[in-house]
Amino acid sequence: MSRKLIVQKFGGSSVANVERIQRVAERVVSYKKKKRDLVVVVSALGDTTDELIELANKINSEPSEREMDMLLSTGEQISVALLAMAIHKLGFEAISFTGSQVGIITDTSHTRARIIKINADKIKEALKQDKIVIVAGFQGVTLNQDITTLGRGGSDLTAVALAKELKADECEIYTDVKGIYTTDPRIEPKAKKIKALTYDERLEMASLGAQVMQARSIEVAKKFGVPIHVRSSFTRETGTMIIKEVKNMEEVVVSAVTLNKGESKITICNVPDRPGVAAKIFNGLAIKGVSVDMIVQNVSHLRQTDISFTVSKVGAAKTFKTTKKIAKSLGTGEILEDDNIARVSIVGVGMKSHPGVAAKMFEVLADNKINIEMISTSDISISCIIQKKFAEIAVKALHEKFGLAK
Ligand code: ASP
Ligand code: MG
Repeated sequence: MSRKLIVQKFGGSSVANVERIQRVAERVVSYKKKKRDLVVVVSALGDTTDELIELANKINSEPSEREMDMLLSTGEQISVALLAMAIHKLGFEAISFTGSQVGIITDTSHTRARIIKINADKIKEALKQDKIVIVAGFQGVTLNQDITTLGRGGSDLTAVALAKELKADECEIYTDVKGIYTTDPRIEPKAKKIKALTYDERLEMASLGAQVMQARSIEVAKKFGVPIHVRSSFTRETGTMIIKEVKNMEEVVVSAVTLNKGESKITICNVPDRPGVAAKIFNGLAIKGVSVDMIVQNVSHLRQTDISFTVSKVGAAKTFKTTKKIAKSLGTGEILEDDNIARVSIVGVGMKSHPGVAAKMFEVLADNKINIEMISTSDISISCIIQKKFAEIAVKALHEKFGLAK
């Protein structure tokens, strides 16, 4: 009879210092004592990755991506070795591996590589010998033996991919929060830990600006149906399950309220209202690698219209310049930029089957005298762009009105 296999991933904050590494070791060992097979994926200690990036930029502001991967992968190599030593100290057998040692084969897109396949033989062999297997997150290797990394937050992806490959019974993602919340508890102390969420809701929340878990890892989990348990490494209580379908889902209309202050709004005034103009503007931006988020084109008057769109604040200056150039060639009016905006969103699969959700959201904002500047919807979310100074009020009011504090 085979034993239960658990893949556990510990993020950087869970292994930020000696004491925390020891705590993780104790926790891992406590599961081993329950006769579990364990594969433990670890991120780099604390802010190591950020520090390494900073260091690289001091040497060369445009470092080669291959060398960047060589550098960043060292962070995780440190953590796995230290965790193995901490487990040995507790009298248990453990062995650490890099991504390349356990055969996480990726494509050659350095700094954002995709996993092609995993040769898990080495892991299976070590498990057979009853060892706790510790794997460096966030990294892989190309068929050419070049080390790659899987994009920021990529240890989550390592864990999910290993859970799939090894057919693990559980995939636990340990972090410094107790799970995923109905909204950011720093804004609304009444925020509640969500028991279960669907992959789609989680993906939607990520794209709308809520952290915790790399989006790509959720996509992979969704594709292969790997259930995920996001929980705290500091307590024993259960966290949030991310799964395919949530029971009684129909009763919950809205699962979470999210906030994103990371966008700027650009408006092109008096755009000639004729076919092909929008295509010209957004093609021009796409060629420059700008990814545009929300777009609104106002009603036309006198064959002219205003077009507004939002973009990430990162690189907004470059976008503004590019937009100006394009606009000039089209003979439009002024270009305005507003970086005092915020996007508040409500997310929930339940809204598919409940009418009037959007109307209720708009009403809540109106009751609080908050003007809506842009609106966008998907089948499981509604977002409004408002002025940044009202962001917190909006989040709290929506959280309350959609019954999330209960
Ligand atoms: N250390 C890497 C990062 O900070 C990978 C991870 O934490 O998952 O992005
Ligand atoms: Mg990290």
